[in-house]
Amino acid sequence: MKLGAYEGGDLFKKPRLEMVETQLIGRGITDPRVIEAMRLVPRHLFVEEALRYKAYEDYPLPIGEKQTISQPYMVAVMCEHLGLKGDEKLLEIGTGSGYQTAVLSLLAGQVYSIERIAPILFRARKTMELLGVHNVALKVGDGTIGWADFAPYDAIIVSAGGPDTPKPLLEQLAVGGRMVIPVGGEFGQILRTIVNDGRVYKTLEDTPCTFVRLVGRYGWPENGEN
Ligand code: SAH
Repeated sequence: MKLGAYEGGDLFKKPRLEMVETQLIGRGITDPRVIEAMRLVPRHLFVEEALRYKAYEDYPLPIGEKQTISQPYMVAVMCEHLGLKGDEKLLEIGTGSGYQTAVLSLLAGQVYSIERIAPILFRARKTMELLGVHNVALKVGDGTIGWADFAPYDAIIVSAGGPDTPKPLLEQLAVGGRMVIPVGGEFGQILRTIVNDGRVYKTLEDTPCTFVRLVGRYGWPENGEN
């Protein structure tokens, strides 16, 4: 990633570093790699120009098609829960703006990301090309069925909330792999972390959250409202 190109000339560096200090470190995020990645990725480039001044605030923002870019803290919590070391093959469901995808590209070895709404994916692709993100493969489709061609994955992250963990994603999680997914009702979920230890799937649920709907064969049905 050509993030260096934004050093110095980056008007938003100050609010970004402040966001990391107060919203992430101030609330208990400790993984140094997650902290460094979020200091680097220019989040303001993943929202439309009129919203850039709000890009480092403590909430999600609209990205069109009734979808949102996740709150910075939630991006950090999910990345931290994955415990990435740097060489993982990772699957992301719900590319959205591509912001979290770009953060993950710095934390894992290879990222595969699926988005169901084509115009959203095209914008994310453009932003990532601008930044020179190279270790990310993108596709339009229903991520609840996973991406079998490249399975198994060392890590799987789902950025939209579903009623339960999609079975195909469990099947595509490598032994020793981890998955983070918000699970619950349509208007509120809890973050679930699943570890495949080879015999059983160990599950931990901690952070309450509110994500947009995971729509697909193993998620919520399509009802015209995304
Ligand atoms: N982390 C992203 C969040 C995007 S919002 C960001 O920071 O920008 C979640 C995205 O998941 C939306 O763009 C939505 O269209 C997408 N989505 C919902 N259900 C999906 C599915 N079954 N497969 C792929 N993408 C899905």
